[in-house]
Amino acid sequence: MEIREIQGYDAAVIGGGLAGLIAAIELAKAGRSVVVLEKSSHVGGRAITINKHGTLFNLGGHALYLGGEANGILQEYGLKLEGKKPSSKGSAIWNNQVMSMPGDPMGLLTSPLLGWSGKAKLIKALGKMIKAKPATLPLMSLRAWAEGEIHDPMVRHIFYALCRTATYTQDPDFQRAGPVLKQVQRALKSGVKYLDGGWQTIVDQLRDLAIQNGVSILMNKTIVDIMHDSGQVRGVLCKDGTLLEVPNVISTVSPADTYRMTKEAEKTILKRWKDEARPSIAASLDLALKRLPVAKRDFAIGVDQPVFFSNHSRAAKLSENGAIVVHLTKYNGQGEQDPKADERMLEQTMSLLHPGWEKEVVSRQYLPNMTVVHDYPHLGRTEQNIGPIVPEIQGLYVAGDWVSHGEMLADASAASARRAARHIIGNQLELGAPIKPLIAYAR
Ligand SMILES: Cc1cc2nc3c(=O)[nH]c(=O)nc-3n(C[C@H](O)[C@H](O)[C@H](O)COP(=O)(O)OP(=O)(O)OC[C@H]3O[C@@H](n4cnc5c(N)ncnc54)[C@H](O)[C@@H]3O)c2cc1C
Repeated sequence: MEIREIQGYDAAVIGGGLAGLIAAIELAKAGRSVVVLEKSSHVGGRAITINKHGTLFNLGGHALYLGGEANGILQEYGLKLEGKKPSSKGSAIWNNQVMSMPGDPMGLLTSPLLGWSGKAKLIKALGKMIKAKPATLPLMSLRAWAEGEIHDPMVRHIFYALCRTATYTQDPDFQRAGPVLKQVQRALKSGVKYLDGGWQTIVDQLRDLAIQNGVSILMNKTIVDIMHDSGQVRGVLCKDGTLLEVPNVISTVSPADTYRMTKEAEKTILKRWKDEARPSIAASLDLALKRLPVAKRDFAIGVDQPVFFSNHSRAAKLSENGAIVVHLTKYNGQGEQDPKADERMLEQTMSLLHPGWEKEVVSRQYLPNMTVVHDYPHLGRTEQNIGPIVPEIQGLYVAGDWVSHGEMLADASAASARRAARHIIGNQLELGAPIKPLIAYAR
């Protein structure tokens, strides 16, 4: 393998998803020279949007939390994100029947899911949830909180369904109650936005902003080695032989991949982060339809099944041909995936909600086993706040949706990217140990 050396950057960012692009922009805005190394032929990672015959599919239903860290940072950057808040008026699926969801005052009054006393208990439970102070809650599981605070089993079912939808995760025995309640409060208070043009509009604007600020973005660069010596990062090696000598590296890939790339990672905290990670996995059936068989049935939450349906076209422009883009999700718990069975379940859900939908299909995308996040706040973590520093290796930082300090989903990617960049900016670029020629490591 011919080795080509690159020098002169203050920092290298591994991965050009949301976390990588935001980390690079933060560093570049602070005057640092940065290179983003992305293994695929495009940036965006899991936030890309695919154009299939004129209809735009995110990789599964994506909603931007308006009260979240990602939206805050994107607004600060001045990104133009058109689209609307979808209405939460919708249906519940219970016992293979579709009924109105007690999610808004009218739905609450008319829903057969609960009797009058159940409705009063739901209002009380929602009140407790809204008033809860997530930051001061002791370390406890979501189930422990729900069982202690919500006594009616049907109200608890509805509560879990809300939590599942807001966090994209189905793991109440392990999920930490505090961050989940914060996320649900955020969803109820500020709502979410579906974006015209899909999340690609975020990716494109972040990429352009990064380039305007002087960031170099190199595609088709798969990092295989994060090199370090005497407790200090020295650089990264790409699969194609490119060797980058750099004193700061932010890895935005999964904890398992960061571990694999780092020599002697077993002697670092990376091992614990990898071993303790609980990825959240979902199957997504994304459809573009000529019309919805049941008009205005735009939104449904499974109460006794971990499924979710949402018509994104009700709030966002996602097609050039008038097709309606809908996303169906099955939330999988740990180790539960069966792609064929999941697809059948999602199709059956669609048939229950929209009989005859098959005749209306313009295009479809089925994504089984999607990693929604590589990890989330749970009780199996030794420390609740991950990163951004890897204490054993100066100059190595982590960011991404698993590097959470209580944030969830893309908010964790954005918040952790900013934390990692700020750490580098604050620390300046001091090298502890004398530099060996990098070429010696690569061979
Ligand atoms: C089905 C689904 C639905 C979702 N819905 C929502 C939602 O509604 N709201 C929300 O906030 N979030 C949602 N998310 C989560 C959100 O999409 C992700 O958290 C976010 O996009 C992750 O960004 P990231 O930069 O941390 O990671 P990624 O997007 O995974 O970026 C990592 C990048 O690193 C690159 N890479 C990997 N290995 C290497 C290597 N060795 N060398 C170089 N580059 C490498 C990858 O190609 C990728 O581009 C959803 C995710 C999924 C899958």
